[in-house]
Amino acid sequence: MTSLRLAHIVKDYDGPGGRQPALRDISLEVADGETLAIVGPSGCGKSTLLKVVAGLEFPTHGRIYYNDVDMTEIKPQDRGVGMVFQDYALYPAMKSKGNLAYYFEHHAYTHEQMEERVRRTADLMGVDFQHLLGRFPETLSGGEQQRVAIARCIVRDPTIFLMDEPIVNLDAKRRERTRIEIKKLLRAFQVTTLYVTHDQQEAIFMGDRLAVMRAGRIEQVGSFDDLYYSPANLFVATFIGSPPLNVLPAAVGEGRLYLAGESWPLPPSLAASLPPGPLRLGVRAEHWLRDQEDGRPLEVSHSEQLPTERIALLYGTWLGQRVTVSLPLEQAGEGAGLRRLRPDWEQLLYFAADDERLLASPGPPDLF
Ligand code: ADP
Repeated sequence: MTSLRLAHIVKDYDGPGGRQPALRDISLEVADGETLAIVGPSGCGKSTLLKVVAGLEFPTHGRIYYNDVDMTEIKPQDRGVGMVFQDYALYPAMKSKGNLAYYFEHHAYTHEQMEERVRRTADLMGVDFQHLLGRFPETLSGGEQQRVAIARCIVRDPTIFLMDEPIVNLDAKRRERTRIEIKKLLRAFQVTTLYVTHDQQEAIFMGDRLAVMRAGRIEQVGSFDDLYYSPANLFVATFIGSPPLNVLPAAVGEGRLYLAGESWPLPPSLAASLPPGPLRLGVRAEHWLRDQEDGRPLEVSHSEQLPTERIALLYGTWLGQRVTVSLPLEQAGEGAGLRRLRPDWEQLLYFAADDERLLASPGPPDLF
């Protein structure tokens, strides 16, 4: 049972041009049993953050607390963290079961305690995991080895579980299945977890909350709804969501919205809250309305049907801007409706033009 708190963590590396900041003032709290998914582009500091929590790297400034106990100077082997990385370093001379049991045999556990915990872990991993227990690592596929590595880590009851892109090397089908297994294990054992990935879908699936990083900073921490409907800034808004956010340059003045030389009256609440002047509109693909009297034509260049989700994605040009529009399948046919399309002003995200600040957002749909 461990909560984690990071206070003003800075980590500098020595680089060719002097000191290079990898983490810039990171403060973060992860509740006991919570999974925080850390997502962000390559090089933004995700792995460094995990290493600092594990004690493999020491922060240049800042403190790390487990359950309010200062761990900043504690050696990694005394922190009790469990770590799983992309490559699965199993003990090659032992069968899978030996890999799981090894820790218990070298610590103060009874044989029964070891058997019980290995059995519970194997049960949770699923029927076919049992078959892996009697095999040596070299006879297992990459996916199977990684499943054993994850099981070996969680079976030890770590204080904090750190996973760095654990399934990135698996093929798509295995990835899907392994992430379900990992989630089941985390639910069952309630281990406080930091889960690093560059894949937003994986982060959304794994995380109770998500932290979006960029260039050594955490831009926002929150639920998927927080990040999607009330992003802190344009970076978070464009990073989260698929297809990516349409961003259109616009301006506001005297209660109207100006876009590509045309203008529309703004809903009164928006007109009151938005400062006059240039801004950027963030239009999610699903936030377009067709058949609007004041709509403008969408010139569709190509489209993609997603029958399982009952939608079609239309890629094209609207008022000279390249946009992606998502419509229910039955409304997506090229007809008069698409000639009168416009964004649903009340659903949009409004960002400052000169920085990436969010000026107005609708919030999650259930708030209406
Ligand atoms: P991510 O995991 O998000 O891809 P990293 O944490 O690996 O990012 O790296 C963050 C930054 O720190 C990068 O600019 C990287 O080049 C730098 N960095 C990471 N490890 C070292 C190191 N051991 N020495 C010098 N620079 C490093």
